[in-house]
Amino acid sequence: MPKDFLSGIKPQYDVIVIGSGLAGMTAANILARCGHRVLLLEQHYKLGGLATWFRRPGGHIFDISLHGFPVGMIKSCRRYWGPEIAQAIVQLRDIRFDNPMFRLGTTFDRNDFVSLLLEHFRVEPSRVEGFFRFVENANFFDDCSMTTGELFEQFFPGRPDIVRFLLEPITYANGSTLEDPAIAYSIVFSNFMSRGVFTFRGGTDHLIEMMAAQMRQHGVDLRIRTPVDNIVVEAGQVKGVVTAGRVIRAKAVISNAHLISTCFRLIGREHFSVEFTSKVDRVRLNNSSTQVYIALKPGEGLDRAKCGDLLFRSTAPEFRTDLMLSRQITSRTYSFYYPETRPGRNRSYVVSSTNARYEDWACLSREEYSQAKQELIDQTLADLERYVPDLEKKVDWVEAATPLTFERYTGHPCGASFGTKFEGLAVSRALPQQMAGMFHTGSVGIIMSGWLGAVNYGVIVANEVDAYLTNGGSAPRQHPAVGIRADTQCQVG
Ligand SMILES: Cc1cc2nc3c(=O)[nH]c(=O)nc-3n(C[C@H](O)[C@H](O)[C@H](O)COP(=O)(O)OP(=O)(O)OC[C@H]3O[C@@H](n4cnc5c(N)ncnc54)[C@H](O)[C@@H]3O)c2cc1C
Repeated sequence: MPKDFLSGIKPQYDVIVIGSGLAGMTAANILARCGHRVLLLEQHYKLGGLATWFRRPGGHIFDISLHGFPVGMIKSCRRYWGPEIAQAIVQLRDIRFDNPMFRLGTTFDRNDFVSLLLEHFRVEPSRVEGFFRFVENANFFDDCSMTTGELFEQFFPGRPDIVRFLLEPITYANGSTLEDPAIAYSIVFSNFMSRGVFTFRGGTDHLIEMMAAQMRQHGVDLRIRTPVDNIVVEAGQVKGVVTAGRVIRAKAVISNAHLISTCFRLIGREHFSVEFTSKVDRVRLNNSSTQVYIALKPGEGLDRAKCGDLLFRSTAPEFRTDLMLSRQITSRTYSFYYPETRPGRNRSYVVSSTNARYEDWACLSREEYSQAKQELIDQTLADLERYVPDLEKKVDWVEAATPLTFERYTGHPCGASFGTKFEGLAVSRALPQQMAGMFHTGSVGIIMSGWLGAVNYGVIVANEVDAYLTNGGSAPRQHPAVGIRADTQCQVG
């Protein structure tokens, strides 16, 4: 008999959360802690969304998106997930760049960046000060028309090397490009600059286990393998969801599914105003990714002096958005995982990540696709050999993921790794005005993507849903930018 994943489910909850990404789980946890009856429905067999991992023979565990996040994650986790999770967040101190324009190492914080800009890149102090003043004071209410490219041109004209230094890591962090608004770049860049790059000791599996345990303790009804097929809307009001042919009713629904899927696949165009749907139609997806996962044989180690923690490696002569996305890969981020990532296991791993365009992979025949994946692996191993000599002899397991892989596991259109471009944020924020009780949380608008952005957006939306439920179902008063500030991307709670 197939297992009934809905066994024991109640006919009615206060809130249903669709999707268990970091935003969905954070919102579910907060609302349950406030005493609301919460059901979380996840279509995959695991919780975590893109904050995930997978196991392979030989005892290998690979992390998908545990590469680095800003220090604000400690504060957000302490406040909304408790001290145990917050205490496991540790700094990555050795971040490196290796490209045809420069080779350097940094702790990736403001002091070190200022020193490098002055001493390595030989920029006048007033320009460096002016740049940091601009990005640190940026907030959502500013003029959004300036692009990141224009921002760099204003402070560092004719310096493609500095553009690469300042932008390449943020492009990996959330898909930011020179053409995106300077405001989105500034907020995310300042978050990293406040103290550097952090990671979670224990691995993603441990983090998600702890989160799941807490949600259960607070009474969240957690269900995996339960895709929501649609959201029930009657007379402009959310009434619940349909999963596996069953209607489950709720006063409010939070969708952590992709914004576009939420609007058009789960809700349906017919429920929105024409003006709103035309805004949704204009929302652009953010890019997708490829990754190569490399496990060394048990006992084989990585040489810290050669590798560092995180390496932004490129063979491209300059930084260009099209080169960053091309299937002819020239730029990669290597995350080096030493045995202390999962204490007690003497294992070392490397994950190579690259931003990618879905179309470049989706258009291939089966045979071409397998071949392209093999090329991705072979070229990555050949490049990595510079930092891990005799790599071929040391490798125990290697495989690759493409935009199609990300699409398959999350259901995100075109395997979008970081949600949507900037315009998605306003659409996500405006959803409750379109139908009472309907909320969206999760990667949107560059600012709200990444681990920190997702957790903080979960907090913001949980507070709004709490207010909505407490006020007996009247729409929360909100501004599109509520809570979005440069320090932690969140000021609620
Ligand atoms: C390769 C890669 C590397 C990354 N590296 C980093 C990094 O180093 N640092 C960082 O901060 N961020 C990184 N990120 C981004 C980060 O992982 C995400 O921004 C964040 O985890 C997204 O969280 P989310 O809440 O938006 O939801 P998601 O993680 O996107 O999860 C959404 C969930 O909704 C579920 N779902 C969708 N539709 C339905 C449905 N109909 N019914 C039920 N469930 C549904 C999905 O299965 C999924 O579990 C990376 C992402 C990728 C792809």
